Amino acid sequence: MKKEKAIVVFSGGQDSTTCLFWAMKQFEEVIAVTFDYNQRHKTEIECAKNITKELGIKHHILDMSLLNQLAPNALTRDEIPVKDGGEGELPSTFVPGRNLLFLSFAGVLANQVGAKHIVTGVCETDFSGYPDCRDVFIKSLNVTLNLSMDYQFVIHTPLMWLNKAETWKLADELGAFDFVREKTLTCYNGIIADGCGECPACKLRKKGLEEYLKVRGGL
Ligand code: ZN
Repeated sequence: MKKEKAIVVFSGGQDSTTCLFWAMKQFEEVIAVTFDYNQRHKTEIECAKNITKELGIKHHILDMSLLNQLAPNALTRDEIPVKDGGEGELPSTFVPGRNLLFLSFAGVLANQVGAKHIVTGVCETDFSGYPDCRDVFIKSLNVTLNLSMDYQFVIHTPLMWLNKAETWKLADELGAFDFVREKTLTCYNGIIADGCGECPACKLRKKGLEEYLKVRGGL
C-alpha cells in the first residue's frame, strides 16, 4: 500500500464503489467525494453516505446544483425520459460537462487536502457513448489539472478498459462482490441492489453480472 492519499469520485453506484475498494487497497488514506446536482433520486446521495459510513471512509458531499440549472437532463428532471441515444446521438442521460466539472472540483479538493491521486470509475468499454468517459479526455484533463495548479495529480481509472462482467470480477477479487451487489445503486429509478431491471443502467449491470456468474459459478 502506498503511503499516499487519494480522492475517489463516488456516487454510490457499482462502478465507483468498486473503485472505492480498489483505492482502499492501494492507498493509505482514501477520501470519497459525492456531487449533489439534484439527481432525480436523493437515494443516490443517501446510498453514498451509508456506504462510506459503513466502510469508515471520510466523505464530502459537494453542492453542484449549478449543473442542473445549466444543463437539465434525464437524470435531474422527472419530465425528461431516460432513453438510449439513436445512431450518432447521445443518450438523454448525458450531462454536458459533468466529468469535466466533477474531476476539476475533485482536483481542487485533492490539492487542498494534499492528495495526489484522484480515482474515477469512468469506463470506455460498455459505456453509453459519453465523451467525458473516454481515456483521451481523462489524460487531457490530467495534464490540464496539473498545469492549472502546478501540482502532480495522477488520475486513476481502474475500470477504463473493463466491461461490466470484468468490473464484477474486480469487485470479487477485492473481496467486495456481495457488498457491491447488495449495497450499491445503479438504477435510474432509484432502486438499490438489483434495481428495477428495466432501465438501461439496470440492464447493463444485470447483463454483466450474469456473464460473470456464468464464469464464477453460483448465484
Ligand atoms: Zn433500473
